[in-house]
Amino acid sequence: MEDAELEGKIMEVARMIVNARRVAALTGAGISTESGIPDFRGPAGLWKRVDPSIATIDYFLENPDKYWEFHIGLVSSAMAARPNAAHIALAELESIGRLDCVITQNIDGLHQKAGNKNVIELHGTLATDRCMGCGKRYSWEEVNKIIKDGGLPPRCPACGSIIRPDVVLFNEQLPAGALNKAFRCSMECDLMLVLGSSLTVMPAAYLPETAKSHGAKVIILNMEPTAMDYIADVIIFGKLGEVLPKIVSYVRKMVSKS
Ligand code: NAD
Ligand code: ZN
Repeated sequence: MEDAELEGKIMEVARMIVNARRVAALTGAGISTESGIPDFRGPAGLWKRVDPSIATIDYFLENPDKYWEFHIGLVSSAMAARPNAAHIALAELESIGRLDCVITQNIDGLHQKAGNKNVIELHGTLATDRCMGCGKRYSWEEVNKIIKDGGLPPRCPACGSIIRPDVVLFNEQLPAGALNKAFRCSMECDLMLVLGSSLTVMPAAYLPETAKSHGAKVIILNMEPTAMDYIADVIIFGKLGEVLPKIVSYVRKMVSKS
């Protein structure tokens, strides 16, 4: 994208945000790559190195210890990561009253670390885990200690059943509460920003379509084409950590002038 064309689009998106009544953001793994967490399907994605079948519920049930080894790697990289310029820009957009909700496919907790308050986690979180027998929830810190004391897979101190991660694995349903909130937010917004998602994972990929069919404009910011570019009103190809802070900085200037 030429510099002048990119700048023009950045201004246009800022103007659309300022003129919108309700803005929703849908974020994917691409917003966290600049924090050092690899995405799944991008150019340096995890699935280029690891077989995705490891993240199915069937694999977990058959090989909980092997799944946990993989999961501990995900938790360690997320816990060590810090929000990047894109997360921080999004938190600022919320704090100046120009962003209603963040719907995220991410499990890394970086939106909350950046300061966003209204975050809907569609795929769960790495921060907690739960017992498959009695349902008791444990923080990662507690489970880490259980693993250090007793090995893999971690077992619930209360009932002895296997503890599972609080993330949605492949072939599992999404949590109904989060999904309902996400659809409501998509139907109520008049502008949706889609940030760093390949839009190939269902049902999250339906959300921009839902927003669009309820009259919202859809903006896609991504490094490469997505599966749903055809519904976008504006598409910007670029790095989120560079593009999003520029958009938010224009929004701030436009709001302070009006
Ligand atoms: P994805 O891996 O399918 O797509 C990520 C997209 O982001 C790619 O199209 C890539 O080109 C783009 N991208 C990467 N870095 C970017 C950058 N700096 N700026 C702009 N675009 C960038 O991710 P998805 O659509 O979120 O779906 C993957 C699934 O993976 C989700 O279910 C999610 O739960 C899970 N996941 C989460 C994390 C996390 O929590 N950080 C990390 C990996 C995977
Ligand atoms: Zn238990």
